[in-house]
Amino acid sequence: MMERTREERLAALREARVVLVSACLLGEACRYDGKSKGSSPVIRALEGKEVVPMCPETGAGLGIPRPAVELRGGTGEAVLEGRAQAVVAATGEDRTKEFRYGAELALKAAQRFGATVAVLKERSPSCGTQGTHVDGVVVPGRGVAAALLHSAGIIVISDEEL
Ligand code: SF4
Repeated sequence: MMERTREERLAALREARVVLVSACLLGEACRYDGKSKGSSPVIRALEGKEVVPMCPETGAGLGIPRPAVELRGGTGEAVLEGRAQAVVAATGEDRTKEFRYGAELALKAAQRFGATVAVLKERSPSCGTQGTHVDGVVVPGRGVAAALLHSAGIIVISDEEL
């Protein structure tokens, strides 16, 4: 899947009619710590558009609050290819199945409602588009849901680009 410049991604967002959005950026308290991450720049950028909110992790049945998860062995692409895992950072408990399922739910929502662009929360192990937590540090790359959306041709944009 081709990589686009920031300008191209923002132009795609301006033109998009339907946009998939990380629910926490809209003010939903669905983060692992039970908080939200409402973003005024995101909400401004979505004015006049149809918005499809989604949270891959709560969609997959992981509760609120929930233990923080990080990726082990690689970024979201590697998790989708079976070369890396999503694990609870504190205990190492495996959450790969849930993360893959949550990513599939996000893609299904995008396809069902015709979203061509997704605005996603940066650095999340699910939603990060430029960086995500791998082996205890933030590395360049996508989270699991962002990787699946990108591979399906959805243009993924970070909240921090707005
Ligand atoms: S970053 Fe993604 S997975 Fe995490 S709370 Fe927000 S929508 Fe859910």
